[in-house]
Amino acid sequence: MNADQYKDLENQYGLNLYAKRDAVIVRGEGATVFDTEGRAYIDCAAGISVANAGHCHPDIVAAMQQQAAQLTVVANTLYNDRRAELLQRLIETAPTGLNRAYLCNSGSEAIEAALKFARLATGRTDFVTAMRGFHGRTMGAVSATFTKKYRDPFAPLIPGFSYVPLNKIEKLDAAITENTAAVLLELVQGEGGVNIADAQYIAAARQLCNDRGALLIIDEIQTGLCRTGKFFACEHYDLQPDMVTVAKALASGIPIGATLLNDKINVDPGLHGTTFGGNPMACAAAIATLDVMKNEDLAAKAHGTGEYFEQRLAEKPLAQVRELRRRGLMIGIELKSKVQPILEQLMARGVIALPAGATVLRLLPPLIIERDQIDTVINHLHELLA
Ligand SMILES: *Cc1c(COP(=O)(O)O)cnc(C)c1O
Repeated sequence: MNADQYKDLENQYGLNLYAKRDAVIVRGEGATVFDTEGRAYIDCAAGISVANAGHCHPDIVAAMQQQAAQLTVVANTLYNDRRAELLQRLIETAPTGLNRAYLCNSGSEAIEAALKFARLATGRTDFVTAMRGFHGRTMGAVSATFTKKYRDPFAPLIPGFSYVPLNKIEKLDAAITENTAAVLLELVQGEGGVNIADAQYIAAARQLCNDRGALLIIDEIQTGLCRTGKFFACEHYDLQPDMVTVAKALASGIPIGATLLNDKINVDPGLHGTTFGGNPMACAAAIATLDVMKNEDLAAKAHGTGEYFEQRLAEKPLAQVRELRRRGLMIGIELKSKVQPILEQLMARGVIALPAGATVLRLLPPLIIERDQIDTVINHLHELLA
């Protein structure tokens, strides 16, 4: 089959849910992906911050191949070697105080679990989340998500959610009541425009939650796993949340999610569960991914390459740019005009990038991206944004 035939099949038999780019991607290596014609693209989307360790890293491929030949499924009512190892590894790297994890299959599932656990632990019903926040598409996760167009068609949603502007302490103070089970925040809003939470705001959120008996849940599904230059973005804030959600990059593309929790949360047997969560295949891929992140110090790479990117981008005046917002290799370039035409022109030049809202160009390259690949991206941005 050729590229047009694959596109026709997806268009005919798939649900038309996504604004598609005009390429059929069939292979990946490092920070590069290739289409059916063998054309190479620098992948500054990385499956939306999934391929943090690069596409098809040989160690991760080997771990997956080995596990596929050994065992791919075991019920959660039995113990498993890979699950045990992954749980230990996750807790070893987690922010202080988080001492157990619930394994599931996606970011939304990790959020759903956090919401249920928070109601259970506090006996309260309500949640406070941030305007422009994004937490996923399932009923609970979309209830926590600010964007009205994602929520309104599916009403009535889960009751009890309110939304406050990020970085406005007094608004948060006013929103947390004796019914608040938890405050749920991203430390850098991904889908919402690469908006960075202030340190004072996060410190105030922690204090307010403590004072009023609410839990603090941090959604690190996009910021976690070295993306922002630390293993978890919480480390930038010296923050000890009550729960942290991770997913995306954890198993380099094999579906996985996890809700990490502290001693305030206890869940009795039978109250929650999953068929696929914690399966040996996903766990093996995750262990290998965590190994690469540690051995190749991807957090330091994200930090260093992010600084290099910012410094190189600033070498030319960019009339079309309003602001750059960045933490590690989580990069948002706020434009003075719509981002879509720029995304299309980048694609035509062999660079895959993302939007974050209508006017923000978002770059989330694999953290192993080489300096010469960054240089290529910078050259295109200098030309397109001048
Ligand atoms: C992607 C994302 C989610 C949802 O994860 P899925 O795996 O798509 O369900 C939730 N929160 C944040 C911050 C995300 O970036």
